[in-house]
Amino acid sequence: MQAQILTLIMPAMAMIFAVVFVVLWWQDRTRSHILAYASWFAAITVAILLQTWIFGAIGPMEVLAFHWISSAGLIALLWGLAKRRGGRIPLLTYILLTACSSVILWYARVYGEQEVLLMTQNTNAAMLLALGAFNEWRSVRRSVADRALMWILTGFAAYGFFRPSMTILARSQMTMEQYQTSIFFTINVTVTTLLAMLVAMALIATIYAGNMQEQQVKSEIDPLSGLRMRGAFETEARNMIDEAFRANAPVSLILADIDHFKKVNDSFGHVVGDRAIARFGKLIDQLIRSGDVSGRVGGEEFCVLVWDCAVADAAQLAERIRLSLARPNHSDDADHVPITASFGVAQWRESESYAQLFERADKALYAAKGNGRNQVASEGKAPLGDSGLVVPLAAHRSAQQARLAR
Ligand code: GH3
Ligand code: MG
Ligand code: MG
Repeated sequence: MQAQILTLIMPAMAMIFAVVFVVLWWQDRTRSHILAYASWFAAITVAILLQTWIFGAIGPMEVLAFHWISSAGLIALLWGLAKRRGGRIPLLTYILLTACSSVILWYARVYGEQEVLLMTQNTNAAMLLALGAFNEWRSVRRSVADRALMWILTGFAAYGFFRPSMTILARSQMTMEQYQTSIFFTINVTVTTLLAMLVAMALIATIYAGNMQEQQVKSEIDPLSGLRMRGAFETEARNMIDEAFRANAPVSLILADIDHFKKVNDSFGHVVGDRAIARFGKLIDQLIRSGDVSGRVGGEEFCVLVWDCAVADAAQLAERIRLSLARPNHSDDADHVPITASFGVAQWRESESYAQLFERADKALYAAKGNGRNQVASEGKAPLGDSGLVVPLAAHRSAQQARLAR
C-alpha cells in the first residue's frame, strides 16, 4: 500500500503540470510547443496510472502499451523543445529507436527477462532525454532559464542511464515486496519525481523568459518602419563595435535621410509621408543581412551598421538601397510618390566611439545633400554616381556566415 501511494505522487504531479501547460498554451494558442510539453506530462500520468492501477497482471501487450505511451510523450517533449527554437527533430530516428526497443521489450517479457526489460525501458527513455539535452547544448544564445533546462535534462538523462543498474542491484538482494518498501524504491520514485518537476519548472521559466524577451524586442521596434528605435539601435551598434574590436573586423555605418521630405508631407499629406517611411524601412530590412543592425534614428533618418564590411562595400550597399527606393512604380509604393534619399557612409576606426563614427557618416551625408541629393557619399570620397555598380552579394553572404558561426 505504501508503495502504491508513493507511485501515485508522480502521476498526480504530472497531471497538475499537464493542466498548467494547457492553461499556459491556452493564453496564446499559436505556441504549440507548450501543448507538446503538456502532452509529455499527460503521457506520464496515463502510463503510470495504467501500469500501476489498471493493468494488474502485466503481459507483453501491456508492457508495449506503457512503452509507447511514455515514448510518445518524450518525443512530444523533444518536438516542443525543438519547435520553440524553430528547429526540427529527426522524428524517424526516434520512431525507429522506439520500434527497436519495442521488439526487445516484447521478447524480454515473453521470456521473463526482467533485467533486460528494465534496462531497455530506462535506456530508451534516457536516450531520448539525452538527445533533448544534446540539442539544448548545441543551441546558441541561451538565457539563464535555457541553461537551467539544459542542465536538468542532462541530469535526468544521466539518472535514466544509471537508474536500472541500481534497481537491478537492489532487486537481486530482495523480493518484490521487500523492494517496494525499501529505501531504494523510495529514493528512486522521489528522485524521478523531483527531476520531472524540475524539468517542468525550467520549462515554465523558459516560457516566461521568452515572453519577456519578445516584449522587449517589441518595445524597441518602431511600429512605422519596423526597424529599431534610436536607443535600441545605438545599444546594438555599440555592441557590434565592441565585437568588431575583439574580432578585428571592419564595420561601416550608413546614414540615410529622405530628400525634401517636408515637401512630400506638404504636397501629399502626412499619411502618404508615413507610408513612405514604412516603405523605406521595409526596403532597408530586405536589403541588409541578418547580422547587420538597422534603425530609424530620426523622423526620416535611418542607419545601418554593416558587419564585416569596409567603406567601399558599404557604399555599394547604400547605392543598392538608394536605387531601390528611387525606382519608379515600386511594387510596394501604392502612392506612386517619387521619393529619393541621400546617404553618408563611414568606416569605423579602431578606438573610435559610436558617436564619432556617426559624426563622420553625418558629414558624408551632408556632402551628399550639398552635392544635389539622391546619392551616396563616403567619408573622404566623392559621391557615388549611378554607374560602375558591382553588387558583391556573395561576398556579403559569406562574411555574414562567418559572423554567425562565431
Ligand atoms: P532634406 O532633403 O534636406 O533632408 O530635406 P527635408 O525636408 O527632408 O529635411 P528636414 O529634416 O528639414 O525635414 C524632415 C521632415 O520630416 C520634417 C517632418 O515634418 C518630417 N517628418 C519627421 N518625422 C515624420 C513622420 O513620422 N511622418 C511624416 N509623415 N513626416 C515626418
Ligand atoms: Mg532629416
Ligand atoms: Mg530629409
